[in-house]
Amino acid sequence: MDTISTITNPEKAALLDQLTADYGNLDSLALLDRMINHEFKNKIALVSSFGAESVILLDLVAEVAPDTPIIFLNTRKLFGETLKYRDTLAERLGLTNIIEVRPDEEELKVEDHNGLLWTRDTDACCDVRKVRPLARTVSGYEAWITGRKRFQSSTRSNINLIELDGSQFKINPLAYWSQEELDQRIIDRDLPSHPLVEEGYPSIGCMPCTVRVEVGQDRRSGRWQGLEKTECGIHIAENI
Ligand code: SF4
Repeated sequence: MDTISTITNPEKAALLDQLTADYGNLDSLALLDRMINHEFKNKIALVSSFGAESVILLDLVAEVAPDTPIIFLNTRKLFGETLKYRDTLAERLGLTNIIEVRPDEEELKVEDHNGLLWTRDTDACCDVRKVRPLARTVSGYEAWITGRKRFQSSTRSNINLIELDGSQFKINPLAYWSQEELDQRIIDRDLPSHPLVEEGYPSIGCMPCTVRVEVGQDRRSGRWQGLEKTECGIHIAENI
C-alpha cells in the first residue's frame, strides 16, 4: 500500500472503507491504539480544549501513547482555571507533547486590536482566534482525534468512528458514548474534573462566551448564551 501522505483523495475514500471494515467495531481504547500506533503513526494528533469532558479522551490517549501530539488552542480568552487544569492533567496523565497554538499576532492587531471583537461579531472572533490557527496547525497531520459524540447535537448525530473530511481523516473514539457513560468513566478512573465544573460550568470555552447553567439545563446552553451560535466553526473537539 502507498504511504498515506502520497495517496489521492479517491484512494483515501477507499482507505476509509478499509479502515472502517477493519476497525469499525473496536472499543475506544483499541481503536486509538490502531490509529495512533499503526495506521497513522507520527501523523495523528488530538485537539483538546482541556474543557469539562476532555479528560476522558486524554486519559485514553495517554494509556495508548502519552507522547501523542495534543494540540491545545489558547485563544487568549480562556479561563485561568483552564490553563491550570491543562498543567494538572499533563502531570497526572503523563502527557509529554502538548502543543500550544495561539492566534496570529498580526491578524489580531488588524481584526481585534482591542480584544472586544467578541462583543460585536462572535463568528469573526472565533474565526481569527480559533478556526484559522487550528486550520494552520492540523493541516500538518494526516488525521485528528476528536472528542465529538453523537448525542451532543443534531449536527453530530450521524458521526462515525472513522471519517474522511476533505483530505484528512477524523477519528471519533467517543462517537457512541452516552453522557452517563462519560460521567461514569470519570468516577471509575478517578479522573480530576475541571475546577469550574463544581462552580456550575458543565461546558467550558472562552471566558466571555461561557456562563453558568442551572442544574438540569442542557450542558452546552451556557455557551454563546442568547445567540443562535452553537459551534465555533471547526468541529474538532467537544468544547472548543
Ligand atoms: S468563543 Fe467567544 S471569545 Fe472565544 S473566540 Fe469565539 S467569540 Fe471569541
